[in-house]
This record gives sequence, structure tokens and C-alpha cells, in this order.
Amino acid sequence: MATTERTEAALRGDMASSEDAPAGAVPDRGTIRVENPATGQPVRTIDTIGPDAIPAMVARARAAQPGWEALGFQGRGRVLKRAQKWVVDHASRIVETIVSETGKTHEDAHVIEVAYAANAFGFWAGHAPKYLADEKVRSSNVFVAGRRLSVSYRPLGVIGIIGPWNYPLVNSFGDAIPALAAGNAVVLKPSEVTPLTSLLMAECMRECGLPEDVLQIAPGYGETGAALVDEVDMVMFTGSTRTGKKIAERAARTLTPVSLELGGKDPMIVLSDADLERAANAAVYYSMQNGGQTCISVERVYVEAPVYDEFVAKVQEKARKLRQGNPTGPGAVDVGAVTFAPQLDIVSGHVDDAREHGAKVLVGGHARGGEGQGRYYEPTVLVDVDHTMRAMTEETFGPTLPIMRVTDTEEAIRLANDSPFGLAASVWGKDVARAESVARRVEAGAVCVNDAQLNYLALELPMGGWKTSGMGVRHGAQGIRKYTRQQSLLVTRFAPKRDVHMFPYRKTTTRALGGLVRLLYGRGRRT
Ligand code: NAD
Repeated sequence: MATTERTEAALRGDMASSEDAPAGAVPDRGTIRVENPATGQPVRTIDTIGPDAIPAMVARARAAQPGWEALGFQGRGRVLKRAQKWVVDHASRIVETIVSETGKTHEDAHVIEVAYAANAFGFWAGHAPKYLADEKVRSSNVFVAGRRLSVSYRPLGVIGIIGPWNYPLVNSFGDAIPALAAGNAVVLKPSEVTPLTSLLMAECMRECGLPEDVLQIAPGYGETGAALVDEVDMVMFTGSTRTGKKIAERAARTLTPVSLELGGKDPMIVLSDADLERAANAAVYYSMQNGGQTCISVERVYVEAPVYDEFVAKVQEKARKLRQGNPTGPGAVDVGAVTFAPQLDIVSGHVDDAREHGAKVLVGGHARGGEGQGRYYEPTVLVDVDHTMRAMTEETFGPTLPIMRVTDTEEAIRLANDSPFGLAASVWGKDVARAESVARRVEAGAVCVNDAQLNYLALELPMGGWKTSGMGVRHGAQGIRKYTRQQSLLVTRFAPKRDVHMFPYRKTTTRALGGLVRLLYGRGRRT
């Protein structure tokens, strides 16, 4: 590996541990210099928490956790509700912080990130007691008749959260909210690209009365994340599929449970009866919003032949009008910067590869910016694409929209499923029953009909990827139960001194019990 490649790989965190990183490969692991991707200007330099500091940090979290758990749902809920108000009261400061380290628009920061967090604090404060309440269980097995059966949920202890750079509030801190609501302590390692939002949220939680050490932030590179995996009771990871696999491997050494929210290549299927105006607006918005740097972005579109030309014309017209640049305030621009420098090469590489393989660029198709000017990739629409091109098969994670003509619905479904990913998808058609039947055949953890991405806002709906897009879910009952240990209880109150199945074994009892088994199950009816 050349030095620049190695440095880049290390900065991305590909070199999981300091043992892997050759001496001198990375200039300074002791600090993170946060830069505004929209201007190229430095924002702030912070000290990192290295892997060696992680065991002590987790030990402090472990010591603080029982007190937090003892507050109960009500006590914890009060802190979370105060945090909900804090987020609303300090929305401008949060937005400024997010915009400064990601280069995204104010709308993507405020309407998506801040709104999500504000909702999530109230949601988990209100729903945790319900999702984690003891559950009574009835059994049809006569051999446990008279016993009281129940399931209870207890916090796991210390949760390690490792997050990506594209949504520093939603996808890093956001996962801490249900973990805390369940009574856990949390150590959060935000992306090295965007650590400032998590540090601000730690300030929020302190001001709102969260006891010391219940939430700690560990800004650092990949090796800090790897060290966290070794110490905690459960890992909640959001990021690339490549890193997700490394984390799963590492966690297997200690049999630590993991929940992985990984990459995607979300297809959009436009059926011939779709409302083309709405579908075109949605295609442009859901592929370019947040600069296309959303795990559930529309990454590729399949359009049935009869409406292909009209759909493409509409998309082309709308994409041309998008304003891109430095997001100086609300409404300033539609599409912001490319947050992570190496991502610009990936996006450019996908568009260039598509061009070389015969694709036509209808809109955009170039990187913009430069030293001290920020980095951007133009909103880009591609046609004449197919699955020989990386833009149709690998996660692009930029403001690109490749559109492919298909002969019929069957071809659309086949191509949508021709992917190692299975995060989310959308199907568009006025015959909702037909569109829904198509949606049910798409291999993805979440599918919207005549919408996209909105499922993410319904925190009652589980959200998790199929195939290489993940393991486990966030949101819904499972989205908080994963942060707990499930305990089954069987309680016997009234019972004889000796049950019939206990020692000593006797021929007559065995025959009688055998007869009972035959009576109960011999005709294949009892369940
Ligand atoms: P990434 O995998 O490069 O990094 C994610 C985090 O993992 C960072 O904090 C990084 O420091 C850390 N890390 C790196 N190596 C590590 C290691 N060996 N052990 C432990 N931690 C390590 O991902 P990224 O580039 O920051 O984020 C973009 C990716 O995230 C995209 O693929 C996107 O689709 C995905 N994503 C998925 C979801 C989802 O909900 N499914 C949401 C947002 C982003």
C-alpha cells in the first residue's frame, strides 16, 4: 500500500488497531482537525481518546450504570424529556454545529436531524416502559400448568455506540437515546470526521441532569472503536458494510452482541401508472437530499418503458434547477457539500466508470471546489445505465441519480434484487394494491409505496437491513429490547412435595406419562 493510500485507509479507520498501522503511517492520531467541507476552513481541533483510554472509560460507565438504572423509567424519562426541550431550545446551535462539520444544508440539519432527535427523546421516554414492561406468558403445555410465566427485560450494562459521519445527530447520538432509556450507560465513538455534534449533545445531557459518566464521548479513529468493541456489553454500529464485518468478527472473540446498520443501494421502481410528477420530485429529492449521503437515499431507479421518457424529462428539468454551494443559512442552497473527502473520489469514480461504459450524463457529472473552497459534486442524472456499471451496483453515497429503462415489472423486481444490499426501497404506482404486491417482493428491510425514507420517521416501525445491509434493527420494540437482557421467569407457588416426573423412576409412572403424551399429541392436533 502506498503511503497516501495507507494514510487514507487509516483515516477511514480501515486499520483497526494500532498493531495494524505501520509506524509513521498516520501523522497525528492524538487530535482531530475538524474542517468545514463547504468552505475548506478549519472549524476546531480536538484531542482524541486513544484505544488505551477505553478500558478506564468503560469501567467508569459500568460504575455509573446501576444508579441510572435505579432511577426507573420515570426518573430516566424526566431527564430525556428535559433533553427534548433542550434540543428544541438550542436548535440553532445544534444546526450550526452539524452544518459546520458536515457541510450539509440547514434544512437537512434542522428538519431532519434536530427534528428526529426532538421526537426520539419523547418517543423513547414514553415507549420504553411499554416495550420493556414484564410480559405475562401462557403456555399450552399441561406439564407447566399452574406455573406463573413471564419475561422481563434488564439493561445490558454498557453499550458501545460507533457512528458514521453522514448524520452525526441521528445516527450516532440518536442510538444512545433508547440505550439510555433502557437503563444502560453509553460510550459513544462518533466518526472522526464529525465529532462535534456528539460533544455538544454530551453537554446537553449534562445540563439536563444525566448523572456523570452515564454518557461519555470517545472521539477517535478506527482503533478507538475497535478497543470499545472489546470492552462493552453490546455494540451498536452504524457505518459501512466493510467496517461492520470487522466489528462483527472482533465482537465474536468475546461473544459480544452487535447490531449493525450498514450500507445500501436503494432501488426505486416506477411503474407505468405512477403519478410521474410526484415520482420525479421524489426521485430528485430522495437521491440528492443531504447531498445523497443518506444510507436510505434513492441510489438507482428502474422505470417501466411506457413512462420512461416522460419521467426522465421531468427529472432532468428538476435536477437542473438545484442550487448547490455553501449553506450559509436556511433556503440558501438545495444541495450542500461532500462531507468526507475520500467520498468525492468514490462518487467521481462511479460517474466516470458509467460514462466509460456508455452511460449518458444528462445533468452535472463533475466535482467542484478546490483548496480552501470546499468540495462538492454536482447534482448528477445518468441514463443509459446498466448493471455492468459501479454506479448501479455499489453504494455511491453522493448526489447522483442513475435511471434505467426496464421492459416490465418483472425485470424491475429482478434488477432491484440483483444486489448484495437490502436496506430500503420504494415502489411508485397509482394502483396501490399492485404497487404493494411489488413492494413485498423487493428484498429490503423497509419498502415504501409512493414515498421513500419516511418510514424512518415512524419510530414504531422497525428499521434494519437485509443481506449485507445489516443485522438487527433500530426503532420499534426490538430497537430497545436489543439493549437489554431478556429473562424468562417461571414461578411455582403451590406444588406437591414431589412431582410425578422426579426420581425415583418407576415403570408404572413412565407408562402413564407416555400414555399422556400419546393422548395429547398422538393425533397431531394439540399445539
Ligand atoms: P465507516 O464504516 O468508515 O466508519 C463508521 C465508524 O466506524 C467510524 O466512527 C469509524 O471511525 C469507525 N471504525 C472504523 N474502523 C473501525 C474498526 N475497525 N473498529 C471499530 N470502529 C471502526 O463508515 P462511514 O464512512 O463513517 O459512514 C458511511 C457509511 O455508513 C455508508 O456505507 C452508509 O450507508 C452507512 N450508514 C448506514 C446507516 C444505516 O442506518 N444503515 C445510516 C447511516 C450511514
